[in-house]
Amino acid sequence: MSHRADVVVVGAGIVGASIAYQLARRGVAVIAVDKGKGPAEGSTGASSSICRCRYTHPEVVRLAFHGQSAYGNWAEFTGLDSPRSGLHSVGVLWMMGESPAKVDADVEKLRTAEVAAESLGPGEVNELFPALSTCAEPFDLSGETEHVCRPGEAFLFESRGGYADPVSANQDLVDATRARGGEVWFDSRVVDVTKGPGGVSGVALADGEEISAGLVINAAGPWCNRLNTLAGADLSWTLAPTRVQTVYRPWPAELGPLPATADSSTGIYFRPESGGSQVLVGSVLAEDEEEVVDDPDHFKRVPDAGFSEMKLAAFHHRVPGLEPRGMPTGIAGLYTINREDVHPVVGPTGVEGFWVANGFSGHGFKLAPAIGSMIAQEVSGESGEFDTDVPMSFFAVDRPRIRFRTSDSPLTRNVSGSRYHGPVHRRSDRTCSAISSLRSGRISR
Ligand SMILES: Cc1cc2nc3c(=O)[nH]c(=O)nc-3n(C[C@H](O)[C@H](O)[C@H](O)COP(=O)(O)OP(=O)(O)OC[C@H]3O[C@@H](n4cnc5c(N)ncnc54)[C@H](O)[C@@H]3O)c2cc1C
Repeated sequence: MSHRADVVVVGAGIVGASIAYQLARRGVAVIAVDKGKGPAEGSTGASSSICRCRYTHPEVVRLAFHGQSAYGNWAEFTGLDSPRSGLHSVGVLWMMGESPAKVDADVEKLRTAEVAAESLGPGEVNELFPALSTCAEPFDLSGETEHVCRPGEAFLFESRGGYADPVSANQDLVDATRARGGEVWFDSRVVDVTKGPGGVSGVALADGEEISAGLVINAAGPWCNRLNTLAGADLSWTLAPTRVQTVYRPWPAELGPLPATADSSTGIYFRPESGGSQVLVGSVLAEDEEEVVDDPDHFKRVPDAGFSEMKLAAFHHRVPGLEPRGMPTGIAGLYTINREDVHPVVGPTGVEGFWVANGFSGHGFKLAPAIGSMIAQEVSGESGEFDTDVPMSFFAVDRPRIRFRTSDSPLTRNVSGSRYHGPVHRRSDRTCSAISSLRSGRISR
């Protein structure tokens, strides 16, 4: 049977569902199709879904801010009376071992973009988050170099940042799309991108259904390269589905609140999970983003034992009062890294009527509402509430590489690394408890 739409979006993860919703709220006839049984079976379901705004480029700061505004006003944004998701504004703390001058300069940049940001001293960090050590000394997690803690001087804090539940947010956008007259079909695998005399004419599904449309948008996450091949689109960007791991462990309520945190001394990030009863720990190191996966349908979905052990040891360094107890769990998911500049490619390709929204490189959750907005404005010519003012051309497929800098990685990849080979600047008599625990095998596994 043949169906008709103005736009077909392939993939209804957080990016595809956001595009579909932004089109539907403008009255565009859209059908989003997804091969999964329900929302968030791809990258989105494994996402740490941290929403922070500290990036190098003002455009990316704005996009992240517009995404954060959408998640922060989720009921209003989606138009749903009782959405399942929304932003947990626990704050985002950057523990990067930076100078006060560097932190002040970045606070100023963020404030110019309306982002709530401040510089905190170690005492202020401990007032807000008593469990956190303010050590800024990088160390060697292998234990080869003795670590001596040294408090950092300044920490950038985004007080309105935080995280959202990714699966619920995805489901909310599906509901919101349908409420505005758009269609979202699950269990609907695209097996062909059909062509007519003027370019792409629609898609064919595995069950024999066909949808004709003047515009097909590839929002297929880690499967994006397969779809580009079906459409005959050659992007000349290396979009690599990459396995990324996270580990969870229990968080004792008596240790107080935790912000979402980037920690350069050991190369981890973490945030509360499960309403604060757990903590999720991931990596910000490039060495943990090297496992490219050939088949996104088949990869190891649990974290490696070595990964869990090292990241939990690093977390114990940051939270010295944490008892090494409880069984860690975790998941591994895929995100699609644009190996050229870690930014997505969005918009028209060389194939008429075939657009992409791919290569989010670990930023896709926070950016999704703004990506949907930029695409829908381009398609419909209409702008409104919650729309971004960053044009789609910023991420154009034929753009030059966007210069890659420190804060543009998933949480921030370009940190100094976990190995410390330099001098200890100021001695303290407290040797890091995580290292000694790791050496004596006391870290929870
Ligand atoms: C461990 C981890 C941590 C992360 N942390 C963060 C973070 O803190 N902050 C942040 O902003 N981002 C983060 N991300 C990245 C973010 O989650 C992704 O960028 C985002 O989820 C990508 O969404 P998507 O919709 O493009 O892809 P997906 O969620 O993968 O959706 C793609 C969809 O396409 C469908 N599909 C594929 N092929 C076909 C086909 N042929 N026919 C029909 N459907 C098809 C799939 O079923 C899938 O549902 C993280 C990701 C991971 C894995």
